[in-house]
Amino acid sequence: MAGDERARRSDMVDSLRRGGISNRYVLEAMAEVPRQRFVDPELVPEAYTDQPLPIGSGQTISVPWIVALMAEALDPSGTENVLEIGTGSGYAAAVLARCCRRVTSVERHADLAEGARRTLAELDYDNVEVRHGDGARGAPDRAPFDGISVTAMAEEIPQPLLEQLGPDGTLVCPVGHGGLGDLVRLRHGRRETLSSVGFVPLVTDES
Ligand code: SAH
Repeated sequence: MAGDERARRSDMVDSLRRGGISNRYVLEAMAEVPRQRFVDPELVPEAYTDQPLPIGSGQTISVPWIVALMAEALDPSGTENVLEIGTGSGYAAAVLARCCRRVTSVERHADLAEGARRTLAELDYDNVEVRHGDGARGAPDRAPFDGISVTAMAEEIPQPLLEQLGPDGTLVCPVGHGGLGDLVRLRHGRRETLSSVGFVPLVTDES
């Protein structure tokens, strides 16, 4: 069974490589993190397919391709202090935890935050802290961040996140309306679009 999962991850990594993912930390993380542990038991057969899966509270775990693309966009080298908004299942946080030094991840649904905390602890990811709250406010006590990854769609990048990004930091965030929009990367004051994407909305206290 475990060998089976490893083979499925290895096929997934081959297809990520073919799609242009090249950062070695990201590829290693995608090969190692047991995605099946972050989905409901009945969805395990689907765990490595390229489709978003429900994780409860009306939310979804992003497809492997998007998780890899967003991690690659941060250009990690194992040393970064990173903030993730939208912990969801905790899967993307686990991927970032293998690519970076420290991850702070914020989730607005208490039950999802609790579930992710449990899964990450069971898998011994001790460099990830999951917080319950409105991620649009960031985590000022952990700033400045080398990387910020927003895994829910914002109408515009929340101002507190811009303030908590370090001078050489990189921020990735899907920006759009009604669940469809652009995956935007911000680095050294430059803004670029990486891809068209669909995401669940970022729900902030202000909206
Ligand atoms: N990265 C996740 C998938 C994220 S789905 C994974 O790997 O499983 C988007 C998540 O963002 C959902 O769990 C949703 O509850 C959360 N979210 C939406 N608005 C938020 C906010 N303002 N602060 C924190 N989390 C938020």
